[in-house]
Amino acid sequence: MTSDAVRASELIGRKREGDELDEGQLRVLVTGMLDGRVSEAQMAAFLMAGVINGFTTGEAKALTRILWDSGESLDLSSLSGPTLDKHSTGGVGDGTTLLVAPLVAAAGGQMVKLSGRGLGHTGGTLDKLEAIPGMTVGFEPARMLEIVERVGCVVAAQTDRLVPADRELYALRDLTATVDSPALIASSVMAKKLASGASTIVLDVKAGDGAFMRDVADAEDLARLCVTLGQDAGRRCAALVTDMEQPLGRRIGNGLEVAEAVALLRRPPEGRLAMVALELAALAISEANAKTAAGAGATAVREDLVRRWERGEALERLEGMISAQGGDAKVCTDPEGVLPTAPVTRDVPATAGGRIRRVPARDIGQIVARLGAGRARKGDDVDPSVGVDLEIEVGDDIEPGQRLARVHARTDHDAERAVHDLQAAVELGDDGQARDVVLSRILLG
Ligand code: URA
Repeated sequence: MTSDAVRASELIGRKREGDELDEGQLRVLVTGMLDGRVSEAQMAAFLMAGVINGFTTGEAKALTRILWDSGESLDLSSLSGPTLDKHSTGGVGDGTTLLVAPLVAAAGGQMVKLSGRGLGHTGGTLDKLEAIPGMTVGFEPARMLEIVERVGCVVAAQTDRLVPADRELYALRDLTATVDSPALIASSVMAKKLASGASTIVLDVKAGDGAFMRDVADAEDLARLCVTLGQDAGRRCAALVTDMEQPLGRRIGNGLEVAEAVALLRRPPEGRLAMVALELAALAISEANAKTAAGAGATAVREDLVRRWERGEALERLEGMISAQGGDAKVCTDPEGVLPTAPVTRDVPATAGGRIRRVPARDIGQIVARLGAGRARKGDDVDPSVGVDLEIEVGDDIEPGQRLARVHARTDHDAERAVHDLQAAVELGDDGQARDVVLSRILLG
């Protein structure tokens, strides 16, 4: 064994015994993994020891710095306005970026949002945007800055040069059942946010059936840790914990979610998706203004955002962003005429009447992914036209035969299977009651 491998073995043993490792020791492991001096087997053993024994906040802070240092950072210092960023831990029907980015831009903020693709039952913003003909998401930093200076927002793919250690570590965590650790998730998320350069970061940590964290208390702990890591690095940072028991939006599928975002921006904000977007944008602007989100400052910010939304300013920014990114901006006036449509549509009738008790986000996400909107493996193609339009929410009363949803599919066979699966997934029960969409606010320092 090389001396680095011996040192790694000793550190793994200490983590196995429950010791806290310092930044230098963690750096030996992570940088050793990147240059091959620490083997994958050793890193996997370290991750498992850490997940079982837990990591301290100090270790989470150190891991964040180590991951962040592993690559380049975006330099937003040349931008004229306050720089804002948002991150969602991922869910189903979660098109909030399509609303938040143009809304904060309308209010004078500047958002360079680096987004991801969907995987498994969750959707990804880049897949949604690419449903718009012509839309590009791969830009060099200089071009992103040019777009954001002109329009106020840009949504682009993260480059390979940003936080490369996270990619390797995440792939190993995925293979070794070590994803589910608050410190590993928080350091992975926050290293990418810190490298993205914004001075204010808001997080939307989802809780419920369709989320990483099913339990609200666990989601709150994760949100607190992320906010601590952001503030420790000198950024303004706050979080919302929001409901992901049922899908957030009514339309689930890449093109359908773009159409829903456009439709929402064309009328006063209403419904669960619009509420989360409005609250995230208000939190971001309030934090950037350094006012407390619980006080009068936040109320005034929220009212201002509602007015801008109602005047169509956010829609105008979305139109500007789509156009700057090469997309067909007519999608903002005639979404149906621009977005691809699926060849088969089918209604999903209720098989019985009663009160809707569950619209399980994870099942719905999986049904939509099976229609072709999602990918089982990284690199798979997605179909922009397929998906599901939900016509019910938890707490609604329905009659037998009433339409629960409409399926957009590639084939009759896919459509029939989705109809069957949706009928099986939606549960009835007298105790059906929707919980609040914003479950808590994490402001800290
Ligand atoms: N999202 C990330 O970016 N990293 C994780 O570890 C989990 C979710």
